[in-house]
Amino acid sequence: MSEIAVILPDGTELAVPEDATLQDVAYEIGPGLGDDTVAGKIEGELVDKETPVSEGDRIEIVTDQSDEYLDVLRHSAAHVFAQALLRLHDDAKLTIGPWTDEGFYYDITGVDLDEDDLQDIENEMQEIVDEDYDIERTTYSRDEAVAKYEGENPYKLDILDREAADADEISFYEQAEFEDLCRGPHVESTGQIGAFKLLNISSSYWRGDEENDTLTRVHGTAFEKESQLEEFLDMREEAKERDHRKLGQELDLFSIPTVTGPGLPLYHPNGKAILRELESFGEAMNDEYGYDYVETPHLFRTELWKQSGHYDNYVDDMFLLDVNDEEYGLKPMNCPGHATIFNERSWSYRDLPVRYAENGKVYRKEQRGELSGLSRVWAFTIDDGHIFARPEQIESEVDDIMDMIYEVLETFDLDYEVQLATRPEKSVGSDEIWEKAESQLESVLENSKMDYDLEAGDGAFYGPKIDFAFSDALGRKWDGPTVQLDFNMPERFDLTYTGADNEDHRPVMIHRALYGSFERFFMVLIEHFNGKFPLWLAPEQVRILPISDDELGYAHRLKNDLEDNDFRVDIEDRSWTLGRKIREAQTDRVPYMVIVGGDEVEDGTISVRDRKEREAQDVAPGEFVDHLIDERADKREEPDFLA
Ligand SMILES: [Zn+2]
Ligand SMILES: [Zn+2]
Repeated sequence: MSEIAVILPDGTELAVPEDATLQDVAYEIGPGLGDDTVAGKIEGELVDKETPVSEGDRIEIVTDQSDEYLDVLRHSAAHVFAQALLRLHDDAKLTIGPWTDEGFYYDITGVDLDEDDLQDIENEMQEIVDEDYDIERTTYSRDEAVAKYEGENPYKLDILDREAADADEISFYEQAEFEDLCRGPHVESTGQIGAFKLLNISSSYWRGDEENDTLTRVHGTAFEKESQLEEFLDMREEAKERDHRKLGQELDLFSIPTVTGPGLPLYHPNGKAILRELESFGEAMNDEYGYDYVETPHLFRTELWKQSGHYDNYVDDMFLLDVNDEEYGLKPMNCPGHATIFNERSWSYRDLPVRYAENGKVYRKEQRGELSGLSRVWAFTIDDGHIFARPEQIESEVDDIMDMIYEVLETFDLDYEVQLATRPEKSVGSDEIWEKAESQLESVLENSKMDYDLEAGDGAFYGPKIDFAFSDALGRKWDGPTVQLDFNMPERFDLTYTGADNEDHRPVMIHRALYGSFERFFMVLIEHFNGKFPLWLAPEQVRILPISDDELGYAHRLKNDLEDNDFRVDIEDRSWTLGRKIREAQTDRVPYMVIVGGDEVEDGTISVRDRKEREAQDVAPGEFVDHLIDERADKREEPDFLA
């Protein structure tokens, strides 16, 4: 029999028989690995261990020691859920049930479920797990598969139609009386699901499109061990407490009311106070690093979006308007505006790099079902920067950007991961410029001493990029700052500068954002700090609590003094007990409370209490102001209490 070669994760090639499956490959590598094989990956995609390999495939073997094992286990738990559901509610129709980062879900219809039903389903799931049914893959012809669902389940038919149109063999997975159309992979038997829990019910749309049927989404999670499940549930409780949507309302930071439209956040004064601090922090850095601020409108003729290529690739995500028979679009990106500004005059090589900055509002039409708090919105602001540079300036420019990003990460005390994504299969730009650009990015990262992952082939078609992901206090990952080189837009806009040789040359465009989007960053901060913002960010930095109305005049004089030093201060003048005033300030997470009664007025002093419940009496107001000024300036550390 003829042989084919597959590529192992370490880059070596292995010759295997032409009809080999992933598990056969595993046996070729070693008998132990063959026995332990649960599933595998071909070209990065998780597939069943029975999947045949082809010449040149990059393959990975998944065992119960692999990271991917949890995905396989969770998808198997989704099947166990579906089996239990059908046992209890035989009218239910199944649609899709994938694994997720947090567990799994199954979208269903035809049955009215509420959270009270989940316990019964869980009990049934436990029986299925205890029975330890074998999970077996079988295949049917297309016609047989269609016949199973015809007149029964239009969703499964739709899946067959769209995702298996050309397949002549369709795989199903069976366990006892249950079977499901499925690509797999799965664990070998239901007993391998160590611990699971159904979490909640929400609604969704078929294929995420609000024009389609509404479905019921049941969320669950599964782990190998009970202890891991418990740890996850504890984290989840904590996450609920810190949820930015909940804190956003409690702390009066922002809202997204139905009347104004979905995904269109309104910042309240408290939220905007924080945003203004973020804006000035970014602006100060942009000033220091030689950026010029520009401003562009929210709306452009679609001619511009055609020139930039956004119209071709992005039009479904754009908000378009018809004005006097001409088509306009709300901007999904700021770059084309900045490229146009650059193009409005001529440049010599001596003028470069040119750096433009704008906190630019952009609009992207996400599916309504995908919108969530500040993490997925229709309107958001990017702290955008675009640099037009000569190719040999890439390294020093990116080096500066990395310093700026590093300052952001340090200041806000955020954990992060860095990825360098290099040239994908489809790309624009010459080999020479890609090689030059990638080696400059690599050398910046090497010099920066940051740990980074190389994601080969994951760059944008127009250039390589460095992406940062934040981990919040609960270990969840969020898109953060980014640095992207772009060889495409300068072509599309025909950007040039005159070189020392008097010829026209193409600049490289660098896109960068230090926060990413303000919305996403704000969300991360709310949850990271649990609403207890450091002093410089806190919307209300000091609250003065007079014990009675007699101290109101004194309280106002203190307030004026603090405001003269640019602090945000309020007086709690409701006729509450001091205890209640303190509790309220604590709930509002105000960093400092200043308590004034008759003694303080007489002595010209104050009592200070912070949100960590530390207290100091007989403090001179001037000493307190000095302390606040130091703490505000020293953004990252929390100084000792009135030391
Ligand atoms: Zn499945
Ligand atoms: Zn850009």
